[in-house]
Amino acid sequence: MAITRRNLLKASACGGALLACGNSAQAARRMELAPSALGILYDSTLCIGCQACMVGCKQANNMGPDPADNNQTWDNPSDLSSRTLTVIQKYEQGNGRQHNQEEDGFAFIKLQCMHCADPACVSACPVSAMTKDKKTGIVSYNKKACIGCRYCQIACPYNIPQFEWDKPLPQIVKCELCHHLIAKGSISACCTACPTGASLFGPVDLLRQEAHRRLLYRAGQYYDFPLHDIRAARTVSQPAAKYKAHLFGEKELGGSQVMMLSAVDFQKLGMPELPDESYASMTENIQHTLYKGMFLPIALLGGLVYFVKKNAENHHNDE
Ligand code: SF4
Ligand code: SF4
Ligand code: SF4
Repeated sequence: MAITRRNLLKASACGGALLACGNSAQAARRMELAPSALGILYDSTLCIGCQACMVGCKQANNMGPDPADNNQTWDNPSDLSSRTLTVIQKYEQGNGRQHNQEEDGFAFIKLQCMHCADPACVSACPVSAMTKDKKTGIVSYNKKACIGCRYCQIACPYNIPQFEWDKPLPQIVKCELCHHLIAKGSISACCTACPTGASLFGPVDLLRQEAHRRLLYRAGQYYDFPLHDIRAARTVSQPAAKYKAHLFGEKELGGSQVMMLSAVDFQKLGMPELPDESYASMTENIQHTLYKGMFLPIALLGGLVYFVKKNAENHHNDE
């Protein structure tokens, strides 16, 4: 048996299965956020698709028109790009008439960095250009440290980091929760711009409590919904929609600081279905399994001995 690429791939697959067994034996790591962690609660049921958040985001972060957009005077991006850090997308089904309804209805979803509790982009970055702030939990990017390998892009389960393909010295671009505004005592620009409270800024603990309160609301009854910042007194009274019993971002991949509520299934809105355990935690478990008792070197040595022995036997038979 020759040492071909196919054989090596087969051997790797067997190794992968063994590793998966070891991995499943490990308990999922739960990431605890600092009490001062900040985030956003996006409530799709309150979103009217006005895109004021997108405009506010562009202004606050000096983002010009999308380079892929030929008409540079009118910028209405349909997806994230190196000039678009957040985007509102629309779900529509059947006649698309009823807001917050899956059948014959429509709903919106806001895409941006989720500021994961255990971010895969931070784990994947070989030079620590992606970091998570210990106090606020904000995941930011250091362009001076970045070497342009784009590992963060590949690692992110939400496809958030974008690359400046149109620039001679490209860099990664992503939402940093407007940390430059937060440092001055303000809040994320998308939440300031949102007229309905659909994008709500604040400490993650308070946002989570607010979200769970809303999950108990009776559809059709009027409630006070906070505007802009959950710590501020401004509210708007409106009827609650029929929420799906799912706070997206509470558990997904160990949780995130951006969380979402909706009346339409999140997969229908284009969000991925994800496990509770973070990718960073899974990788760590695999590493622990590999090195526990020198499992990896022994497995590799065993594999090589097997291939050499088989190869020698085949040569002997050919003679
Ligand atoms: S959503 Fe992606 S880019 Fe944002 S923190 Fe999580 S892994 Fe990183
Ligand atoms: S937090 Fe700031 S950078 Fe992030 S989407 Fe909102 S406005 Fe844009
Ligand atoms: S500003 Fe608020 S209501 Fe308007 S699209 Fe953005 S999140 Fe929705």
